Amino acid sequence: MRAMTEPLALGILGYGGLGQAMARLVSRRQQVRWVAVADRKGYALNSNGLLAAYCQKVYTERGSVGYLEPGGVLSEDSLGELIAQPGVQAYFLALPNLPNTFMADVVRRFLAQGWRGVLVDALKRTSAVEQLRQLQADLQAGGITYLTGCGATPGLLTAAAALAAHSYEEILQVEIRFGVGIANWEAYRATIREDIAHLPGYDVAKAQAMTDAEINALLDQTDGKLYLENMEHADDVILEWAGICPRERVTVGGVVDTRNPRKPISTHVKITGRTFEGKISTHTFTLGDETSMAANVCGPALGYLQAGWHLHQQGHYGLFTCAEVMPRWVR
Ligand code: NAD
Repeated sequence: MRAMTEPLALGILGYGGLGQAMARLVSRRQQVRWVAVADRKGYALNSNGLLAAYCQKVYTERGSVGYLEPGGVLSEDSLGELIAQPGVQAYFLALPNLPNTFMADVVRRFLAQGWRGVLVDALKRTSAVEQLRQLQADLQAGGITYLTGCGATPGLLTAAAALAAHSYEEILQVEIRFGVGIANWEAYRATIREDIAHLPGYDVAKAQAMTDAEINALLDQTDGKLYLENMEHADDVILEWAGICPRERVTVGGVVDTRNPRKPISTHVKITGRTFEGKISTHTFTLGDETSMAANVCGPALGYLQAGWHLHQQGHYGLFTCAEVMPRWVR
């Protein structure tokens, strides 16, 4: 167990939009040290800590963190090789969930390796989070504390809904609407592909198989915007499992602008319920328009990593969701 003063040794799996943002965020905090990273072509491990700016430069110029010096390794199985190394106490999983079974398969690899520690994801689909629930007994037996759905939605907004619910005796509706603005879709390739999979006429397999040219052509049709309604989003099961309301009462939709960092709409969650006195009312929690997707995903995910580490040290293993645990502040 690390001493009270020693920072938590953090690994980041996936070094795209969110992975890079998490690295930058963590480099500004003292209680966590970023020691490991993997992308599709390689990985790097350095117990003294990785430097976010240098890592970003190498990844941009050479296409993989495997070229980092020291500690970089090029590999066709970067995840498998990194997971097998000691020295990482917690991982943020910033990987694409393509296909929809990918994250559950990665977790099985941690289990097979006998790795113990904290895992936090920002998974979005209901069916993906349900697959993790099937692994509950294995996670408990294997000594892994896993927090799922810990981004913005699911994540920050779901947790806000879980807190706001307490004003009421019955929750009638939880409505999440998010606005995302990014300068170009290539900065968040997996996020955009996974969002396209929610459009009418698309599914995960179809979105995964699209070429970059096909994605650009699709985005051209709507001036770069994706309009998303009634998404299969795990906020619904997460609130149901927390006992707050049946999943049918939770809806998620949003607008993503892939050509403008300004948010096309304000992100909010509305929680409508009936109080014990019989009054019906709505709480609304709105994110500041200046906050980016990266800030609203990686900030909460880091807080959940810290919470997971506290649970882990107390011997609490298994699957937890963003609605069951309060994120903890990281200095
Ligand atoms: P991205 O496409 O920008 O980056 C993915 C990274 O994973 C890349 O570095 C890539 O090399 C790496 N990778 C891919 N396959 C790999 C493999 N087999 N082994 C090792 N590395 C591999 O992804 P992103 O846009 O940052 O999104 C990451 C995830 O976060 C997506 O699943 C997305 O849906 C999710 N997300 C969640 C929220 C939320 O609020 N919950 C918000 C945004 C994104």
